[in-house]
Amino acid sequence: MESIKNKVAFVTGGSRGIGQAIVRKLATAGVNVAFTYNNSADVANKLVEELSGPETQVIAVKADNGDADSIVSAINKAHQTFGKLDILVNNAGIGTMATLPDITLADFDRIIAVNVKGVFVAIQAGAAVMNDGGRIINIGSTVADRNAFPGTALYGMSKAAVAALTRGISRDLGPRGITVNTVQPGPIDTDMNPADSQFADLLRSAMALGHYGSTNDIAELVAFLASPSAKFITGASIDIDGGLSS
Ligand code: NDP
Repeated sequence: MESIKNKVAFVTGGSRGIGQAIVRKLATAGVNVAFTYNNSADVANKLVEELSGPETQVIAVKADNGDADSIVSAINKAHQTFGKLDILVNNAGIGTMATLPDITLADFDRIIAVNVKGVFVAIQAGAAVMNDGGRIINIGSTVADRNAFPGTALYGMSKAAVAALTRGISRDLGPRGITVNTVQPGPIDTDMNPADSQFADLLRSAMALGHYGSTNDIAELVAFLASPSAKFITGASIDIDGGLSS
């Protein structure tokens, strides 16, 4: 993989789970990283302390992904701090597990605000300051395409919207050499989807590999897509799911 050293990245939801692994992977590859958090200020501050060094700067900015103004001001702060933007990773997301009679309109509005509108806002504000040849990587989910269990209709809808947004915006930004892709994880062991939950055995039984992935599995793919080596991949939705969809 070609080097991403000295690039600048903005990662949403970098305090925990997959986002934290992405921040770690990029920072240890020599990327200067700004990441957002919403509730986990302590964890975010510890991560900044741990990863900041003489060669790599990491900053954390509080920004609710459901609040357009806070995302735009976080991106502008990152741009002012580092003077450029090369890589945008839209990772922040929420899940819901409810079947049709129990889905509320408040759940509907919140998941659209955080998982879809927030992604669009970050792409629009990020692309406005991004260098030509930049990278936009959205974290979707395999449930955008295939869904074997009840209870994930709203979540799947939001991730299908991310995949469609990715395809459309890849056309808008292609002339600038900016690639736009979605990474679609399957079960990854995080607070959102713990490998020891009641639901986990059912998921494992549906996977070719029969076990959960790690947050680092996703971070490795994100780092590759962020690199010059991935310059011909755009508009794609890439499953990384231990064969859940196979
Ligand atoms: P976690 O719940 O473990 O972590 C979520 C992260 O996103 C936290 O850092 C959290 O920050 C942040 N976040 C949540 N809501 C907001 C918000 N409103 N504004 C800003 N940041 C927010 O989730 P995962 O790491 O598992 O998920 C990360 C992404 O991967 C999501 O988009 C999810 O849909 C997707 N995904 C996950 C899968 C899995 O199996 N784990 C499978 C498929 C997709 P804070 O703690 O500071 O609030």
